[in-house]
Amino acid sequence: IRTYFNDSWHDGDVPVMKAADHGSWLGSTVFDGARYAHGLSPDLRAHCERVNRSAEALMLTPTVSTEDMVEIVREGLSAYSPDQAVYIRPMYWGLDSGALGILPGQNATGFAISLEEVPLAPDTATTTLTTTRFRRPVLESAVVNAKAGCLYPNNARMVAEAVSKGYGNALVADALGNVAESASSNVFMVRDGEVFTPIANGTFLAGITRARHMKNLRSEGVKIHECTLTFDDFRAADEVFLTGNMHKITPVTEFDGTMYQLGPVARRARELYWDWAHSDDGRTS
Ligand code: PMP
Repeated sequence: IRTYFNDSWHDGDVPVMKAADHGSWLGSTVFDGARYAHGLSPDLRAHCERVNRSAEALMLTPTVSTEDMVEIVREGLSAYSPDQAVYIRPMYWGLDSGALGILPGQNATGFAISLEEVPLAPDTATTTLTTTRFRRPVLESAVVNAKAGCLYPNNARMVAEAVSKGYGNALVADALGNVAESASSNVFMVRDGEVFTPIANGTFLAGITRARHMKNLRSEGVKIHECTLTFDDFRAADEVFLTGNMHKITPVTEFDGTMYQLGPVARRARELYWDWAHSDDGRTS
């Protein structure tokens, strides 16, 4: 692990948060996850931009510009070789501003980046899904417009419930009972050669990898519908896959007893993703 903290890179995991920091006891933490693999860090700029927007959603002042953050990450990655894969986590939290209280202090923001070697899952990796009684909250009850640490205990209990039933992850509903995402990634289904994904309705993280796959597939002429999708729609699908920064794309083999074929769309989307990542556009993204 390498850690960026107090304006420089350090070897190892460095303690960053203090007990009296707003983030420690009132949960004002945001983070993002990006990847370095095959010598590339696709969509790094978008992930740096998003962590700044997440900070603002929690009333924290982002202190590092997107461009500076990209540069800092690239400098930190220079310690790794192209055959290593790294998980890149920039994060902000509320500092101890001296004023005990609910509001985070103005201009009292901590910033760190963690780099950790994490291999990409093999192309043969798959997962399974089940339902969960836990749902995505709405904007009126949680900061769902941020990638905030405080949202993830809810996702942890979704995963715990799925794992206790023998499944890999949960297919999660929004407040209305429609499909939103999985507990750690976005979800797509294929029916009769056309692709469907839940429409971004502000209750779940409409991911950067989701957008990238949609752009790539559309450029090949694949029809993609962003719409309201029910659990029955997923039971009637031919193919289902998950997308997220960590492993880019993961085919789903089963949803609660409904079995899926490992399909051509997920395979093609993976190829398109890495073709794009190697292109000039991907290298500078
Ligand atoms: N939903 C959740 C809950 C996630 O944690 C993630 C991973 N960041 C995603 C979706 C996928 O988002 P992205 O493609 O931006 O990583």
